[in-house]
Amino acid sequence: MNSAVPGTLDPIKIGNTTLPNRFVMGSMHTGLEGHDGGFEALGRFYAERAKAGCALVVTGGFSPNFAGRIKDVHCTIDGKGDIEAHRKITSHVHEAGGRILLQLLHAGRYSYHPAPVAPSPLKSPLNRDVPAELSETEILQTIEDYAETARRALLAGYDGIEIMGSEGYLISQFLAERTNKRVDDWGGSFDNRMRFPLLVTRAVREALGDAGMLGFRMSALDLVEGGMTKDEILTLAQGLEEAGADLLGTGVGWHESAVPTIAGAVPHGAFADAMKAIKETVSIPVAASNRINLPETAEEIIGGGYADLIYMARPFLADAEFVAKYAGGRRAELNICIACNQACLDHYFSGQPISCLVNPRAAREQEFQDVPATAPLQVAIVGAGVAGIACALEAAKRGHQVTLFDGAERIGGQLKLAAVVPGKTDYGLAIDGFEAQLRAAGVDVRLGHWITAEELASAGFDEIVLSTGITARELDLPGADGENVVSYTDVLNGTRQAGPRVVIIGAGGIGHDVALFLSHGEFKELSEKEAFAAQWGVGREAAPAPAAREVTMLKRSDGRFGKTLGKTTGWILRQELRDCGVQQFGNVTYQKIDANGIDILVDNAPMRIDADTIVVCAGQLENDTLSQRLMELGCSFHVIGGAKLALELDAKRAIDEGARLGNRL
Ligand code: NAP
Ligand code: SF4
Repeated sequence: MNSAVPGTLDPIKIGNTTLPNRFVMGSMHTGLEGHDGGFEALGRFYAERAKAGCALVVTGGFSPNFAGRIKDVHCTIDGKGDIEAHRKITSHVHEAGGRILLQLLHAGRYSYHPAPVAPSPLKSPLNRDVPAELSETEILQTIEDYAETARRALLAGYDGIEIMGSEGYLISQFLAERTNKRVDDWGGSFDNRMRFPLLVTRAVREALGDAGMLGFRMSALDLVEGGMTKDEILTLAQGLEEAGADLLGTGVGWHESAVPTIAGAVPHGAFADAMKAIKETVSIPVAASNRINLPETAEEIIGGGYADLIYMARPFLADAEFVAKYAGGRRAELNICIACNQACLDHYFSGQPISCLVNPRAAREQEFQDVPATAPLQVAIVGAGVAGIACALEAAKRGHQVTLFDGAERIGGQLKLAAVVPGKTDYGLAIDGFEAQLRAAGVDVRLGHWITAEELASAGFDEIVLSTGITARELDLPGADGENVVSYTDVLNGTRQAGPRVVIIGAGGIGHDVALFLSHGEFKELSEKEAFAAQWGVGREAAPAPAAREVTMLKRSDGRFGKTLGKTTGWILRQELRDCGVQQFGNVTYQKIDANGIDILVDNAPMRIDADTIVVCAGQLENDTLSQRLMELGCSFHVIGGAKLALELDAKRAIDEGARLGNRL
């Protein structure tokens, strides 16, 4: 029953189809499409989400023709073989009780192949090749290709089509003056620039008839110079409704935008106002997207009249059961997407199939066994960092009796430290979720006492897993034992405060995070959303907040700072540090530390940096204090995560290792 103020779990009609709730799995590239067995894997992946209540799934982008493919892999529905392959996807989803749209995405100048096409021959900042300008004949053929692919999609069992019209792909390229310099009927005035997307929409509508849903994902904000104006966006929305769209999805920013749109630095639901403006302009349903990873944000958006549906993609990677848990009163048990991009988008853009940092099962469903263990075991896991947590949850899922030990008063290990870094507050919410999941799984969590090898050996466990993590590397340098020298762990956990002038030794991911934590200034008078808009110049002049401290980062190696940061998020952190005026010196030789600063050589030339605090972020060492004694006591055991190998350990590897071992026991 629809109440006066709609709720996220109320049904909604899209064209001739009624969806049971407002949660849609928005389109996301998975990298599985072009691979052997990829369609089968994709079908299972989507079906898991559909089975758990996701009202509608939208596939990753498939091109309407060869020229529009993103990469060299030809992702479209070309002939009979392709139709059969796509049936693997649709049949899995339908058997699970779900519905699925095929997304049609022509990449235009964003294609990573040597023969891209676009409205005008302007190279994108992200691609090597200058696109060829489409002739009028080619434009008309492309429109027909959209329609023909839509007809094939129906034959393949899809419930309809979503036309990808945002994020800077071909349709955006027609719409924006930035990329459309044509002087014929397809460029110039907004009526002309809108012609291509409207004709595509009409053609696809005709191809689908009344049988299929037709969604159009439009840009709610382009966030590039020369992008659509607000008036143009609203005019387009009206035009799309008239052209036959049943649903308007939304996207924010182009891939070349210099504003973060989905990273952790973006507040939850940051762009909902732009979506509301579209909703108020049309009478068909509008979906909100971007940084909606919590049910509470979804409730505010739907209940507040900002949009009618919620598009989430990454949160469905993090938790296939997002809707079922939320609807079933198990909100606390959600596995929260932390917006890190590390295993999803960073994988895709480096050519690997995606997964999820907090859920290694995502898009790897067939690599995990779901049958209960034939003989349930007593399992001890020592260390409740992410490796230990993941191992405990998977082992408990198979029916084992799991006891998880940690000396700290709270689970989470290094993730607890990360949670205080600006833009990483969701890491803390993820730990809350893990706590609830461990409770629900019946894991016996024993905190506040580091169990000894003797206690483990005498307790009669069938399996012992050591996930005792890492210790921070200390410096071997004159003066490194001074009062003013502190480890990053003490700074992030709040046991030590840094003074107004700070030098950071080490510039890996943690050095960068600590630099942001210490230098990030506050806009005291602004709300979180206003501060984000001010910092990045969204709808106003950019004016970053003044830095909180004078911070200098040092590293011994030569070359660019931040090379190891995430492919799709590193640029944000680098920009934030520039905005805070953080100084950086590479090719450094450390000489000595004293009470007032540090002496170094930079490119072999002496330099003195006066500082109140020296923070050491020089990597980690394995913290494996139990192996030796357990061996002496004749116990067998497994070592995982940082305790096994600290070098370049990150949460992704730790969780993956833990989950796979837990599933194997
Ligand atoms: P890391 O990436 O290995 O960096 C350690 C830094 O310490 C390096 O810059 C190294 O640089 C320096 N170093 C190493 N030994 C040293 C020594 N004896 N004396 C002085 N300096 C030394 O480790 P991390 O920063 O601790 O990060 C741990 C893991 O977490 C990494 O895998 C990282 O990618 C991940 N992480 C990522 C992020 C992110 O992407 N935002 C955030 C946090 C953590 P030089 O050799 O050049 O001096
Ligand atoms: Fe979210 Fe990170 Fe998982 Fe991607 S890898 S879905 S951003 S938690």
